[in-house]
Amino acid sequence: MRFGICSDCGKRVRGRYARCYNCNRRRRRGHWYDPEHLPGQAERDAELGRREFYVYLLETDYGHYVGHTANVQARLGSHAAGEVPSTAGGLPRLLWVSRPLPARADAARFEAALKSLRDRQSERFQAITGYEPRPFQPVPAAPKRPIRAGCGLPGVAAAVAGIVVVSLLLYYGIRLAG
Ligand SMILES: [Zn+2]
Repeated sequence: MRFGICSDCGKRVRGRYARCYNCNRRRRRGHWYDPEHLPGQAERDAELGRREFYVYLLETDYGHYVGHTANVQARLGSHAAGEVPSTAGGLPRLLWVSRPLPARADAARFEAALKSLRDRQSERFQAITGYEPRPFQPVPAAPKRPIRAGCGLPGVAAAVAGIVVVSLLLYYGIRLAG
């Protein structure tokens, strides 16, 4: 039995499927992203007196970044300072901010929906934000060296041996023929 890795959640998938059952079903329904699960965050927000949350859209070198925050200015500062790993190294520019939402859970749901619309290149994304959706490609990791067969010292040795054998065959072939 072959196993693969779900391209959305990274879980092990039986057979040749690109995605697990749940992720595939979510995609078919047009919901690619799950709202962020933030344990204990509601209590922390209450403690800090946060009552309004915003979904925001950034232009980055990697496409449109969608996030949510209680403090847009502070969050923009973190992005600009490279403190947010997924936008680090780019030059994030604020394009759009939602109306204030009264609960973080609502903002997280809106964020997930907007990311799904973005990656599906849906016209709804433009209707909401005013921008044509650009899917987000995370910061490219350092490429792994592909393992290429026939390279390196054994490959060179095999090639030299092959040339020698062919040369000898040709040489003696010509001598025999002549
Ligand atoms: Zn999955």
